[in-house]
Amino acid sequence: MKIKDEIIIAISKGRILEEGLVLLDQLGIKTLESMQDSRKLIYDTNNEKIKLVIVRAADVPTYVGNGAADIGIVGKDTLIEYGSNNIYIPLDLNISKCRMVLASLPDCTPGPKIKVATKYVKCANNYFIKKKKQVDIIKLYGSMELAPILGLSDYIVDLVDSGETLKANGLKEIDSIFDVSAQLITNKASMKIKTKSIEVIINAFEKFI
Ligand code: ATP
Ligand code: MG
Repeated sequence: MKIKDEIIIAISKGRILEEGLVLLDQLGIKTLESMQDSRKLIYDTNNEKIKLVIVRAADVPTYVGNGAADIGIVGKDTLIEYGSNNIYIPLDLNISKCRMVLASLPDCTPGPKIKVATKYVKCANNYFIKKKKQVDIIKLYGSMELAPILGLSDYIVDLVDSGETLKANGLKEIDSIFDVSAQLITNKASMKIKTKSIEVIINAFEKFI
């Protein structure tokens, strides 16, 4: 049952989760049970008003935008790709940093129709519109590095941290598209209705970044 003034924080599964939990821990927000080995998706915390939910990265903007969660921790890439309707972005958390890049094999010589494989269709489209280049975007859901190797595409648009995965697959970075880090987001209506409780949390985050 929802208690009055309850705050739901949605965190991206995957890479952001670990660093996000460390940050929450520093703030004094701790889950009551260990998340390891648990299949739970919603966790009580030591603050009876705060609950954590773990969802897929791409679903965080949907939960927060619709007010099902009040606060979210999500990558800038995800906000750009999947939208930020009804969402405020009060803080850049400066964690889970990486970059959106354009990469290809070193000997890449595209034909008249340039093919780009990516999970980030909108980001890739925006990039090539800015460059005034017409391209065919091929949507993939993972392991983008494989696409140029097997001739599925000329280029990939993907997130890169150290560049090790690109290197290991013989790809090179052609251009850096934008920098990515995890953002603290809030639902706009929650901000109005639960102003105090949310402000306290934003201020606490601010002290640790
Ligand atoms: P799923 O695998 O469930 O489809 P996902 O692939 O988006 O989700 P992750 O790969 O864990 O999940 O990435 C989540 C977020 O982690 C990204 O949106 C991005 O903001 C951040 N991130 C930080 N470093 C990297 C990196 N090197 N590669 C990919 N994502 C990274
Ligand atoms: Mg992934």
